[in-house]
Amino acid sequence: MKRDIKSLTNEELIAQFTLWAEPAYRVTQLLEWLYRQRAATWDQMSNLPKSLRQKLAGEYTLNVLNLAHRQGSPDTTQKFLWKLADGAFVESVLIPANPALYGEASDRHTLCISTQVGCAYGCKFCASGLDGWKRNLQPEEIIEQVLAVERWHGHQPQELKRIDTTPASDRLANNLVIMGMGEPLANYDNLMAALRILNASWGGGIGARKITISTSGLAPQIRKLAEDPMQFRLAISLHGATDEVRGRIMPVNRKYPLAELTAALDYYQSRKGRMITFEYILIAGVNDALDQARPLAALASRLNAKVNLIPYNAVDGLSWTRPEENIQEAFLAALESEGVTGTLRREKGHDIDAACGQLRLKTERELRDLKPLG
Ligand code: SF4
Repeated sequence: MKRDIKSLTNEELIAQFTLWAEPAYRVTQLLEWLYRQRAATWDQMSNLPKSLRQKLAGEYTLNVLNLAHRQGSPDTTQKFLWKLADGAFVESVLIPANPALYGEASDRHTLCISTQVGCAYGCKFCASGLDGWKRNLQPEEIIEQVLAVERWHGHQPQELKRIDTTPASDRLANNLVIMGMGEPLANYDNLMAALRILNASWGGGIGARKITISTSGLAPQIRKLAEDPMQFRLAISLHGATDEVRGRIMPVNRKYPLAELTAALDYYQSRKGRMITFEYILIAGVNDALDQARPLAALASRLNAKVNLIPYNAVDGLSWTRPEENIQEAFLAALESEGVTGTLRREKGHDIDAACGQLRLKTERELRDLKPLG
């Protein structure tokens, strides 16, 4: 099977071009087409000789994500449903002008990307896991989510481009959160291959500190990440501060209970010395009582973690709801009174199925319903 051109590193391309007796500057030109011009076809690469384009096309694929559906809300959060080459669907969400939830205060826009089709981890509040896990995304499919969103943006009429690009960079998506569909650390090798290319100066050029990897708490992979020299940020989808509450909504807690997870985080911090983020979705009557705020504050203090509180986004077919605003505020105040840094996210995209996996689930079920019987 052919490899996709966007799964290759600079070094691999140089080796290939050397084998073909092509000059080194052709690699630079190719990379410019892939990661700056976001070329969708070989034919677009007009300064590469036709013979080289034919050789490339013979040896490699150049797959792009096809936009199946897009939803945008008045605050310009955009949700994209992509159709992959094999017909599977994944989602990405572009959140412009986001306050500094993950990166620096100057971040203008955050792109949330997926790493798997479906998810095997079955968190009870999440749409992504409802129909189970289908497959891992390949490195190029992870990378393409960034390029495809930028390609879409590039085709918008100027007057509709309400999203600024940062003057210092020509990347629209200069802050990534790996928090879409799937458990990122369950697709560890493909994710890291993709992130190295997105980070490389010859590739995406996105700073490692602008990339946040989220996990539901896979302790062994957190230890592995601690050994990686890249300085990515780490976010933990915690959602419960005791094994009793967390275990009720996140089956992964049975495999890696809090003691094991926090030991892995201790190790991560001993190697990285970096602040981590706890994601905590506030679900009415499940984890929003003050008896969870206290152990959460204790965990956050011990691990030097910041806490992002996210009021729950309702998912079709699930009965969970978000707490009233006064309960959200009281929970935040309880954390702050213990000296913990917390933010309460006024969730953008609330009206566009922004909770991960919902748009894909809806589309796949609609397509299934359209299939002829028999
Ligand atoms: S919250 Fe994340 S890990 Fe849990 S089911 Fe959803 S996608 Fe999977």
